[in-house]
Amino acid sequence: MSVKHKMIRMMFGLMGLPTCEEVEQFAYDFLEGQLDPYTMKAVERHLKACKNCQRFITAYRKTAAFGKTFKKPSLDLEFKQRLFEFLIHQRVS
Ligand SMILES: [Zn+2]
Repeated sequence: MSVKHKMIRMMFGLMGLPTCEEVEQFAYDFLEGQLDPYTMKAVERHLKACKNCQRFITAYRKTAAFGKTFKKPSLDLEFKQRLFEFLIHQRVS
């Protein structure tokens, strides 16, 4: 092994590339852009090399997108209800 390769391996060791399990745990924050830039890059690096995690993230993204469209109406409804209650309160007082 060349010195250069040893250096690269040392760097990867220090940077601590996430494992597949860690990528799965980071998936939500990764898709929401909530990870710190360091972890974000590490996950991206792992994804480039790992087909399994690429599939997982794609599936997760679809589920997350569905979750958003599914949740949004109820949030809007809750907001309207609060607004309605606020207006009623305003009228009374
Ligand atoms: Zn992986």
